[in-house]
Amino acid sequence: MLLRPLATILRNLLGPPRDPLPYQFSCLRRLIAHTWKHNSCISSWWRDAGLAPAPLTSLDDLRRYPITRKSQYQASSLEVLLSDDFRNATLKKTATSGSTAVPLAIYRTRLEDLVLSSFRLRTYFGYGLGWFDRRATMRTGLNAAFGDRSDRDREPWMNLGLLRQEYVSHVELEPPEALLRLKELRPDVIGGHADGIYRLALELPETGLRSLGLKFMTAGVQTVTPEMRARISRAFGCPLYVTYGASEFNMLAAQCPQTGLFHLNEEGAYVEVLRDGKPVRDGEEGEVFATNLHAYAIPYVRYALDDWATIGPERCPCGAPVRTLREIQGRIAEFFHFSDGRRIHPFQLINPLLEFIGWLREYRMVQTSRAEVEVWYTVLPGAPPRDPASVAIEHAVGSAAGPAVRIRAVPMDSLPPASKGKNRMFEALPPER
Ligand SMILES: [Zn+2]
Repeated sequence: MLLRPLATILRNLLGPPRDPLPYQFSCLRRLIAHTWKHNSCISSWWRDAGLAPAPLTSLDDLRRYPITRKSQYQASSLEVLLSDDFRNATLKKTATSGSTAVPLAIYRTRLEDLVLSSFRLRTYFGYGLGWFDRRATMRTGLNAAFGDRSDRDREPWMNLGLLRQEYVSHVELEPPEALLRLKELRPDVIGGHADGIYRLALELPETGLRSLGLKFMTAGVQTVTPEMRARISRAFGCPLYVTYGASEFNMLAAQCPQTGLFHLNEEGAYVEVLRDGKPVRDGEEGEVFATNLHAYAIPYVRYALDDWATIGPERCPCGAPVRTLREIQGRIAEFFHFSDGRRIHPFQLINPLLEFIGWLREYRMVQTSRAEVEVWYTVLPGAPPRDPASVAIEHAVGSAAGPAVRIRAVPMDSLPPASKGKNRMFEALPPER
């Protein structure tokens, strides 16, 4: 139970690379066999779907297994969900991010957690991360509220002064304060929540951001549009690589520096993009499901991530022997869903506001109904009078939203504080299920 994960971590950090797809299948086989034998809760879900214990023979075989959802895990206690051979294991608790409407505590062993982290680190090494580099990670502070990531469970290499990582809360700190904090930390690499990084790129002068002299940046957790990617990269003067992950899995995919496609983390997870239960083809969009190849304490098999993505080529043209995603549309809960059936990512509506950057101080997009979005805003000195300012905002955002959506600009003296862990730039109504 200890040797295999340790070997996985060492090989991820020190090489040589594996042949991903045969490795992936052998991990899947072992996970399914273990779950039948040791996890009565999840195997009861499988029996309910008409399956009986049997070794996994192919990926088609896996597709007979039922989809699992966050709500099933939420409804079951830790004692029930835990595999029987992990009864005495010490578990680490992680919270799902605040960007999903359903908060869920994730449990895994310390070693399982390190295995998953080591796949992310290996990707970062590929981007140019060095063992002695400092990383700063932007986050909401929600994890801290769940008692997660305290100093006592720092990754062991950090105790040797390697791969150091510090956290900066972009919810508690205003952009200028966040930049000061970053200047103190002198990071070589910045990662974390895309909207925290994006806000710095929007609101701070390039000279300040470029003086950080970063090697590269990574952005994850939320949707990152091509415009955001370009703006962040220009503002900080370094490449930005988008990663796609979830608390239940750590990293699921990471952007290829050569092609811009997303390499699936085939050795860490088995990802499926499905529409009506069937795999989609290159260029088609579907719902994302994943199986965690290294979580045995609480298995996640064909687990619905509530995300949408477009699948890409079966092999990346750069030569990496992995499947790809073209685009990650993001959290279903993050979108504005409108009565005409369309869903629009809030950033598509936020982008037109960039033309007002000289006088617009702060804004928040709040969806009030299936046919209306309010733009709450405050202005800097020298802004146009209220009525023309509101008309300009309504016109700009309205042209991005389309005729079926009413945009109402609401000038304010100051924006009310966002609730803890919530996004400060937009609030969407939850999707109807
Ligand atoms: Zn590639």
